[in-house]
Amino acid sequence: MDQILSKVWNQSFGVVGVSAHGHRSPLKRPFITAARRTDSVDYVVVDVAVETAGGIFRAQGSAAETVKVTGESAQTILREVNGPIRSELERFRGTLEEMYQLLERVAPNATSARAAVDVAVHSAVATAHGLPLGVLLSGYPPYSFPSGSLDGELTNDMTVSLDAPEIMAQRAAEAVRDGYSILKIKLGSDPEADRVRLQSVMDATPGVSLRLDANQGWTTEQAIRLINELADTELPIDLIEQPLAREDIAGMAKVTARSPIPIMADESLWSPVDADRIIEHSAATLLNIKLAKTGGLQPAIQIAHKAQEAGLSCMVGAMMEPRISIAAAAHLALGHPAVTMIDLDPPAWFANDVPRGGYTESEGKLRLNQGPGLALETLEPAEDPL
Ligand SMILES: [Mg+2]
Repeated sequence: MDQILSKVWNQSFGVVGVSAHGHRSPLKRPFITAARRTDSVDYVVVDVAVETAGGIFRAQGSAAETVKVTGESAQTILREVNGPIRSELERFRGTLEEMYQLLERVAPNATSARAAVDVAVHSAVATAHGLPLGVLLSGYPPYSFPSGSLDGELTNDMTVSLDAPEIMAQRAAEAVRDGYSILKIKLGSDPEADRVRLQSVMDATPGVSLRLDANQGWTTEQAIRLINELADTELPIDLIEQPLAREDIAGMAKVTARSPIPIMADESLWSPVDADRIIEHSAATLLNIKLAKTGGLQPAIQIAHKAQEAGLSCMVGAMMEPRISIAAAAHLALGHPAVTMIDLDPPAWFANDVPRGGYTESEGKLRLNQGPGLALETLEPAEDPL
């Protein structure tokens, strides 16, 4: 298999088609964090066709509008893909690494748009060779990793939006009834209110594990005080995500040093360079990798590789994105040994969760479907697009 994979990664292919179409899905309930509120998701699906010695192979990627996070709207993603990316990529011939270098050059600041195209191309090349995406990724030189765990499963979490304490408790109880044993609780409005919210959730759902996400909502002093108080309560808190502003690496290092609970970097981590900085300053003990931030699978694997070398564990998370994006994230997560946690619940929020396939989930455990690429159905352009 190693030889097959290194051949695939060294082989040139051509891109013979790139196009993007817009979609919208209402959410079953509003998604609320310290930074934003979302009631429906506008997203873009990218169709790519690649040509190899075996013929022409198609696959899809996707990206959702997250103006507050990546600065990209569905309209800017559509323009980016149907404009500069298409005109450069449709003339491209080369290896997967050369393809990603081109994407970075053409769309340096459009990480979501880039990730959508990148996933589609990798998935089409994997399909051309009859490989699941995760198996193809495991051969990425020189960051290759054993892919045996692709047949396994990872325990997913369910996110509870930032809301009134009684509503958060009710949502948490529903998630537990649906089989989830890990809840991701959105906090970060103010520490006093956050304490009340958390107590309300715990009273409603004893026995679950908690991941707390402050989404940059606290100051260094607030974070140190609140985290130590939480640790004293002996609540089952697995980790605390991004307590401080993304650029405050020194503050994150201070909190990490003084926290009895593991600290995860999310908004502070976009690129492999960010991973180096976080590792160098001990600014977190856990890293949250999202393809919409990294802009593609190759930088995501580089981050996981760096984490592994430094002895850190990773989560693979996502924006409020459709199933195509989540399936790609799941291949990375199940394949890479440094990834021990997933936060991939978005499709469960979508009132219109399409296309079918990619993976299955039961009792909060996520498993990949067998098959080449992402093993997903194709999503046709919407009749009533954005
Ligand atoms: Mg987060």
